[in-house]
Amino acid sequence: MLSLLLAALVAGQGQALQLRYPVEPGLTGVSVRWSGHAVPFVRQDDRWLAIVGVDLDSRPGDHAVDVTFTYEDGRTRSQREPITVRPEQYPTTELTVEERYVELSPEDQARADREGAETSAIYDTFTPARYWTETFEVPVEGAKDGRNFGHRRVFNGQPRAPHSGADLRARTGTPIYAANRGRVVLAKGLFYSGNAVFVDHGQGLYTTYLHLSAIDVAVGDIVERGQRLGLAGATGRVTGPHLHWGVRILDARVDPFSLIRLPAP
Ligand SMILES: [Zn+2]
Repeated sequence: MLSLLLAALVAGQGQALQLRYPVEPGLTGVSVRWSGHAVPFVRQDDRWLAIVGVDLDSRPGDHAVDVTFTYEDGRTRSQREPITVRPEQYPTTELTVEERYVELSPEDQARADREGAETSAIYDTFTPARYWTETFEVPVEGAKDGRNFGHRRVFNGQPRAPHSGADLRARTGTPIYAANRGRVVLAKGLFYSGNAVFVDHGQGLYTTYLHLSAIDVAVGDIVERGQRLGLAGATGRVTGPHLHWGVRILDARVDPFSLIRLPAP
């Protein structure tokens, strides 16, 4: 009975995936082992739900995850679920930016390294609480899509890391809103990202908002879905004003719009 996962476990590289199980008498908890963490499912109406992510660079092909069911008498049971990762073809983009973002001075290199370690530590932090209950929404009013997710990038002729977020059209000064409820864990200027806000939504899910011209929130703030975080801008390594919106789920880099497109609970 329980082997029936309601959603097909097939996801492209860089996509969010929702796992679902039907509610069953006596079943008090479900969790999935994903990227070294036990991710608890949340019960919503007649289903148990969890959101996980398949990283941009995950190996295409067949994988498996372990799902554990806990019953009211304390008994637990595990089962292995197959997951198929579909390869995605992401194009290569050539960009021209200020040379100081490509050939870094020793000071800038030290700063970029320090900030890289700081943001990695944030993504490695698993907050067991789940701050949100509603679906995620796009942080720019009226935006229907983003560009460039997954693109392999060449800056001023030099290959760099793939683009791990979506770029949304937004003029400097456009209000940027929290995609969902969460806690602000970073709110400051970064070398590559410019003025940046990182929101921890709990259970390993983070959203990031980069290149802002102004920041309205501070570390530790609980922000509500749709609360203003700041204003769009063109700070950091950019070719012009826009919002770079990123989503990490248990350190997997996923297309933010794949999270938006998940079926409503
Ligand atoms: Zn971007």
